[in-house]
Amino acid sequence: MSKWVYAFGNGQAEGDAAMRNLLGGKGANLAEMNRVGLLVPPGFTVTTEVCTHYYENDKTYPADLLEQVRSGVSHIERLIGRKFGDAANPLLVSVRSGARVSMPGMMDTVLNLGLNDATVRGLAAAAKDERFAYDSYRRFIMMFSNVVLGADIDLFEHALEKMKERKGCRADTELAAEDLKALVAEFKRIGKDIGKEFPQDPWEQLNKGIGAVFGSWMTKKAITYRKINSIPGDWGTAVNVQAMVFGNAGDDCATGVCFSRDPATGENRFYGEYLCNAQGEDVVAGIRTPQPLAKDASGRLSMQEAMPEVYAELTAVRGKLEKHYKDMQDMEFTIEHKKLWMLQTRSGKRTAPAAIRVAVEMVAEGLLTKDEAIMRVDAGQLDQVLHPTLDPKAPKKVIATGLPASPGAAVGRAVFHADDAEAWKARGEKVILVRIETSPEDIGGMHAAEGVITARGGMTSHAAVVARGMGTPCVSGSADITINYAQKLLRTASGAVVREGDWLSIDGAKGQIIEGAVPTMSGAMTDNFGVFMKWVDEARRLEVRANAETPSDARHAREFGAEGIGLARTEHMFFDPSRIQDMRGMILAQDEAGRRAALAKLLPYQKQDFKDLFAIMDGLPVTIRLLDPPLHEFLPHTEAELRDLARHLGLSYETVAERSAALHEANPMLGHRGCRLAVTYPEICEMQTRAILEAALECQAEGKTVTPEIEVPLVGSKKELDIVKAIIDATAEKIFAEKGAKIGYKVGSMIELPRAALLADEIAESCDFFGFGTNDLTQTILGMSRDDTGKILDEYRARGIYAADPFASVDVEGVGKLIEAAVKLGRKTKGGRIHIGVCGEHGGDPESVYFFDRIGMDFVSCSPFRVPIARLAAAQAAVKAKAGK
Ligand code: ADP
Ligand code: MG
Ligand code: MG
Repeated sequence: MSKWVYAFGNGQAEGDAAMRNLLGGKGANLAEMNRVGLLVPPGFTVTTEVCTHYYENDKTYPADLLEQVRSGVSHIERLIGRKFGDAANPLLVSVRSGARVSMPGMMDTVLNLGLNDATVRGLAAAAKDERFAYDSYRRFIMMFSNVVLGADIDLFEHALEKMKERKGCRADTELAAEDLKALVAEFKRIGKDIGKEFPQDPWEQLNKGIGAVFGSWMTKKAITYRKINSIPGDWGTAVNVQAMVFGNAGDDCATGVCFSRDPATGENRFYGEYLCNAQGEDVVAGIRTPQPLAKDASGRLSMQEAMPEVYAELTAVRGKLEKHYKDMQDMEFTIEHKKLWMLQTRSGKRTAPAAIRVAVEMVAEGLLTKDEAIMRVDAGQLDQVLHPTLDPKAPKKVIATGLPASPGAAVGRAVFHADDAEAWKARGEKVILVRIETSPEDIGGMHAAEGVITARGGMTSHAAVVARGMGTPCVSGSADITINYAQKLLRTASGAVVREGDWLSIDGAKGQIIEGAVPTMSGAMTDNFGVFMKWVDEARRLEVRANAETPSDARHAREFGAEGIGLARTEHMFFDPSRIQDMRGMILAQDEAGRRAALAKLLPYQKQDFKDLFAIMDGLPVTIRLLDPPLHEFLPHTEAELRDLARHLGLSYETVAERSAALHEANPMLGHRGCRLAVTYPEICEMQTRAILEAALECQAEGKTVTPEIEVPLVGSKKELDIVKAIIDATAEKIFAEKGAKIGYKVGSMIELPRAALLADEIAESCDFFGFGTNDLTQTILGMSRDDTGKILDEYRARGIYAADPFASVDVEGVGKLIEAAVKLGRKTKGGRIHIGVCGEHGGDPESVYFFDRIGMDFVSCSPFRVPIARLAAAQAAVKAKAGK
């Protein structure tokens, strides 16, 4: 016989906190609170396995469930001394949902179950309080009709409001017993009218109540929530059946919620709210303004003053639970005639600054070890600390949404052209650049802007990639907006109009575009952050570098603790308006001589860029990738721009248009690019090698420590790499001879094609390092790109074909397997003498970092603003490895 039901009560429990998979978070912690010796209404938990059974068997229960539920109810009756369905002294219960992880607001709960026309009189008599009994009854009919029978809650709310109006009351507590009786009669009539009459039989109520909680697991909102939060659908929910305690039985009764520390700041102060003479969700539902727990400046009567003994008790519970769980707790309680009952505890959700402060202070208090503290902060949340955020308390009118392309909050005045952004910024204005999409010409304007909005383009569009690199908040691909450049205005689907100069705010982490200037909160790094990150760096094994190519990127990289540059993409350096024409000349050149002429113009720019990078990164390694442009990205699109370019290059418009069209057809990911450019046009590689090594030599002469690493992109064979390496080495020899000075440099290969991964042992022979380009590797292995397939991916994830978005978290089953094999092949050839890592967005994704650590990589490299995330994820990986997890 299977055990479907776990009982708790009176300081004892069959379950405990470790059993959250079986009992759900709520059930496991109700059991645990009993074990800790707190006062908890007795009850039992129906396991998540019953939920699974229910859905696997056409929504039916296991045969022996009812019997076990009956004995669970007897258990409660024994401890409480009342009987379920007894007309003289009835036991009432709550039926509460509770999944493994909390899904706030997603699932259903029914309170006061067991009431009917007979038991309500018994309750009134036993409590000697008719008002309380009918208040509970009207609440029960309303909740049961809504949650279990699916009636529209508004019908009941409306009747309640009407009654209050008729009686001239503002709060529902002012309604008298007679009013509530009348309301109950009306509620019953409403149910009957819509064919949803609630059952009088308490056992039928219980049976249906349990079914309704299971049913709430599969509501549309619950399914959506699970999808967003990557919670598997087959986990199921548990059901907790628990004796009711009453916060609505008079003025010495109350219900409330509290946090053991301030969830916004992490400050070690008791934080919470309660309502006298109320029940359940009244506090959160905003039915009346709740009162503070601790005495504060609000002037509202605090529990500390109103019920000092209970407050002292609750304070003791706070301390006890924190010590026990070694974590900040979010608790629910009810006070029945001054007696304190605990109804829920769980680890509290908190902001990133709060998480860090709590972790650091708990180590100081001796509650946590440093390793435990490291595991307590959600790595993915860390960029909250670095970017300013919109004040969560400020009112906001969201006028459109798009993709959360680059996190952070930005506030500024709308401008529609990159030049305007620069001009406005020059006169001291803060601006938000609004574009249909951005192109390399817009880079200056993007730089000048506080934030960027585009109507088109995905998470890897030009706007998104460049904005993330700059740390500029960006909302991309907002289908809700249309932009009119000529009139300089933006219209939203909802009818809002934003003109040039109007204030806008954006939340890049949520993808929201908001009307007006919303106040921001500083993301200033605190002392706690410094202390915490020091522990993180002591714990981790993986080296963390940054992807950076501009001086400001590089400075951010250092500031955020990067140990070098893992990827400097040289093509981005040519997006600058002052250089792009020469770059275009190089791309469109008809022959080698033409190309060499254009390259000669580019050399000084490149060299200066590298000098800047080396100088900023003094003492740290810098990996520079040879040119790997999707060539068409550099070319203009409009006829006017093409004519302008033709004039600049001294070519005919037709030639430029033709060449540009030809390049456009090439697949941007797989075409004539990467090392293929270097093989076919060696002079490009020569120029770049020269720029890198001359810059390095000059920096070295100025007393800087420079370690240049030259990375060859899109390699697919050892031969290919050897050709490029020969050009690099020959060019190096030539430069060293010319300058009479030498410098050490390394040559490595990107591994971003499946072919390269499979041949990694051979390629390793010619390599000092590997940089896995996981984005391209994912595209080539999966045969899909992120931008084109967003919709498909959503659907595939919903159906469990991919566990997560493979472009956000490494697809461990496919891409991950190949990476792991390639790492092994590389090590087979070179052991520890090859430096292996990942450069690309995956390097800043915590789940991916755990994986890279596990398969023995040496480093990860990600955009500067994600460096702290990668450092923390690397430390968490190391702590897990130490614990053998
Ligand atoms: P949620 O998961 O949405 O928070 P809960 O199951 O915690 O739902 O219940 C909702 C509210 O009802 C909570 O405020 C809780 O304190 C209250 N509640 C639940 N069970 C009881 C009970 N047995 N006695 C009194 N109040 C209860
Ligand atoms: Mg709750
Ligand atoms: Mg690539």
